[in-house]
Amino acid sequence: MIRKLTLILSIALFFGCNSNTETQTEKSSMKEEMKTTQTPAEYTLVIHGGAGTIKKENLTPEKEAGIKEAIEAALTKGESILKSGGTSIDAVEATIMILENSPHFNAGKGAVFTNEGKNEMDASFMDGNTQNSGAVAGVTNIKNPIRAARAVLEKSDHVMLAREGAENFAKEQGIETVDPAYFYTEHRWESLQKAKKKGLGSVISEDPIDYKFGTVGCAALDKHGNLAAGTSTGGMTNKKYARIGDSPIIGAGTYANNNTCAISSTGHGEYFIRYVVAYDISAMMEYGGKDFQTAANYVVKEKLKAAGGSGGIIGVDKYGNVAMPFNTAGMYRGYVKPGERVIKFYEE
Ligand code: ASP
Repeated sequence: MIRKLTLILSIALFFGCNSNTETQTEKSSMKEEMKTTQTPAEYTLVIHGGAGTIKKENLTPEKEAGIKEAIEAALTKGESILKSGGTSIDAVEATIMILENSPHFNAGKGAVFTNEGKNEMDASFMDGNTQNSGAVAGVTNIKNPIRAARAVLEKSDHVMLAREGAENFAKEQGIETVDPAYFYTEHRWESLQKAKKKGLGSVISEDPIDYKFGTVGCAALDKHGNLAAGTSTGGMTNKKYARIGDSPIIGAGTYANNNTCAISSTGHGEYFIRYVVAYDISAMMEYGGKDFQTAANYVVKEKLKAAGGSGGIIGVDKYGNVAMPFNTAGMYRGYVKPGERVIKFYEE
């Protein structure tokens, strides 16, 4: 009897172990397969410097060169981080800081003026691996609002902090603050005066150069297969009543999800909020099985355009595929991946 039981037990053990081993082998080969298909591009980083009435005839050669130089520097910085195995979060932050420090973009140093003659900035950040997000809105003295957005993501229990509260939090986190006078630029000041003179409300695109959007954003895929995205802006020239656009709104201005893509938007913020643009693209991929470019083109060039919303998005999917669709005359944009670097301003 005992011998019989021992025999049954050993047979059961044999099959049990065996099937276990098989499952483990299957699992690890599946993992291997997913890993390679998930990251055919070792790393990818894509940026924008705003969409709008961007036409060659509206740009002086100096201005064009200045913008190109800043975009080159931003791509170089981001790539160096990703190449050496750094995280997409570090790459997005460092890349955006370069654009924020340039007077050419409507973010940080080049932020537009409100109706009251102030600079009120918004920024957001999302980690595609954890879905953690952070944003600041209406900040006036943080040199690099994207750093504050990252701090909200990593060091607070919240997603969005606004105005003085956000500034106090940033200060507590040791993030550099400046005298608001730092954000003064003559060309933005003149744009405000023109907008007021013309009796325009919050302006984004009526006048070719002065009011073009100029928001900045970055999305990246790192060597570990993690996606991240961030966006930073001064909002709209002549804005009133503490108006906040899409840039600090997760799902509208910024979105990142390791299962789909990472996106930063730029354009007429109210429409991007209403149509939850960045998340809508991700949802088409996640639930509708669409590829990144098809989803991004549809949302920006058809759905948003039909609704009257102007602007564009840049982003990268989990495989390193880039999409940069816009429905305006142009969008400052560029991307970098191993052996490839592209910078474009106008329509193809
Ligand atoms: N989306 C920004 C906003 O509405 C503006 C921009 O992208 O230039 O505040």
